[in-house]
Amino acid sequence: MPMQADLSWLVAAVLLGPFVGSFLGLMSLRLPEGKPVALARSACPACARPLGPIDLVPILSFAGLRGRCRTCGAPIPRRYLALELACPALALWSMLAQPSAEGFLGALLAWQLLLLALLDAEHFWLPRMLTLPLIVSGLAVAAAQGVLASHLLGAGLGFAGLSLLALAYRSFRGREGLGGGDAWLLAGGGAWCGAIALPSILLIGAASGLVFVLVQRLRGRATAADQPLPFGVFLAAGVWLTWLYGPLGLA
Ligand SMILES: [Zn+2]
Repeated sequence: MPMQADLSWLVAAVLLGPFVGSFLGLMSLRLPEGKPVALARSACPACARPLGPIDLVPILSFAGLRGRCRTCGAPIPRRYLALELACPALALWSMLAQPSAEGFLGALLAWQLLLLALLDAEHFWLPRMLTLPLIVSGLAVAAAQGVLASHLLGAGLGFAGLSLLALAYRSFRGREGLGGGDAWLLAGGGAWCGAIALPSILLIGAASGLVFVLVQRLRGRATAADQPLPFGVFLAAGVWLTWLYGPLGLA
């Protein structure tokens, strides 16, 4: 494996990261409001001053403006800086686990999962317009790697499995326990990681969700049993770790 190729994939992913992060920040705010998403923020939401290129350089603009609009001083949402840092960090993590083109593909997966997890955490919403591209991109990668059949099966089984689980929960408890979006997200996980990885994704998702609930309890934030858990966040973590390190027990 030539080092040179590894390095250019790494540089590409890490340099692209902050811009992707900025875009994810925009999507995370505009999608839930049903507003159109352009490629860049067009104006300050407080004073409506049009934003120029100098306002839109990831990380540097935020630092230079100290997190405030240049005209009206309205705070720029913190999430922009957080995501502009998180996206290259995830790309770097992916590259460290799997160098070269594989690592770059991992970054594309991580960025999609990050936006889905954020929307689920804030709005309990895994929009189809994001889970479908997750499935399609996973199948495209699988096709390029010559493993389309098992990943197609993974997508189908992932969707069917979680749909059945949701149906069972509904009939036992008489209410919704899993959002319909979770089945589409697991289908995406199956598309990216293959059918054999589904138990691993579900196990990591369920275990991390359980740890989260226990920690909340221990910190005295007694959560009512009825309080919904954004399961998509934990499923996304399961997909991510399984893609990086392979299915549990088979790695
Ligand atoms: Zn402003």
